[in-house]
Amino acid sequence: MIKYNFDGHKLMYHPDRVAQYLADGDCYPLYMEISPVGVCNHRCIFCAYDFIGYPNRKLERERTLLLLDELAECGLKSILFAGEGEPLIHPDIAEFILRARDNGIDVGLFTNGQLLKKELAEVILPALTFIRFSFNGGNRDNYAAIHSVHPDAFDTVVENIREAVLIKRQASLQADIGAQFVLIPENSEYILAAAETIKDCGADYLAIKPFIQRELQSYQLQLQFSNELLEELLSSVENIAGSSFNVIARRDTFQNYGVRNYDHCYGASFITVLNSAGVISTCLPYWEQPEFSFGSIYEHTFKGIWNSDRRKSVKAHLECTLDTHGCPPNCRPNAVNEFLSSLKYPQVKHINFI
Ligand code: SF4
Repeated sequence: MIKYNFDGHKLMYHPDRVAQYLADGDCYPLYMEISPVGVCNHRCIFCAYDFIGYPNRKLERERTLLLLDELAECGLKSILFAGEGEPLIHPDIAEFILRARDNGIDVGLFTNGQLLKKELAEVILPALTFIRFSFNGGNRDNYAAIHSVHPDAFDTVVENIREAVLIKRQASLQADIGAQFVLIPENSEYILAAAETIKDCGADYLAIKPFIQRELQSYQLQLQFSNELLEELLSSVENIAGSSFNVIARRDTFQNYGVRNYDHCYGASFITVLNSAGVISTCLPYWEQPEFSFGSIYEHTFKGIWNSDRRKSVKAHLECTLDTHGCPPNCRPNAVNEFLSSLKYPQVKHINFI
């Protein structure tokens, strides 16, 4: 049975790129996360990016389209439109998705879903590998409290998910339609209701992940779930899974929260990020920090940025001097870093006895 793999990595399916990195010490990235806009129509209480302040900025259309061509030329395999704002607010988001897909790049989208009108869904769903709705409340009032929106937004989002599923079925599209629920004390008693709603919409899955605490964000987790309570919550939701609805309880991420078995960071050669100001950086936790930025797409081509002395010096810092134990927990390249670290510095004896 083919499964989702949210907690691990898939770098072993790209042996050529890994071999190039090991032989040459560098390679072009496989995956990029792009934030088309800074603004958001929701204000989730646990938002990881509220410290940025939801700036009213967006990627410039012509430059972004050209960048998508440059990325394909460099062998980028996938793009996730997500980021510090709501991607569907960008007026040119459909064009970005189609251009990336036409360039042979797989495209994913994270959205709160409120702006996914039928006309837009009909255009973008055929081009998407997956769409994942950020859905963190179990009913109108709980959703409104967590997302800081009017309760009517809950009905709109549910209707939009239902409509997306209908479009997918009518056109026999491949796109996976899922939702993600960040488990916090404020929504824990509504998790089953949320899962039942998503299942009832006909979505493919609900993923449940822990809240990741970042130093700069406003929300501070007051209460850690005990293992017993966590297991009780996750199992109750898993009970409603079926042949056409998956529940992805990210136990590894819950259990290995903050665990890092490597000292330096290598994954930033394979995974990179572009914020809505047009700056390419190492990773999401540091994408607003100048010392982790590689360069601006408004000043250089992608190749120019990737092969620049600036990036080489940031990369050397990540790979040689940065102590990753001081980094925020559970960053996106975490599993990739574990894998690359074990390739570069095997921790097992007799590796030729495969
Ligand atoms: S280990 Fe640190 S530098 Fe590397 S991707 Fe994670 S947060 Fe960023």
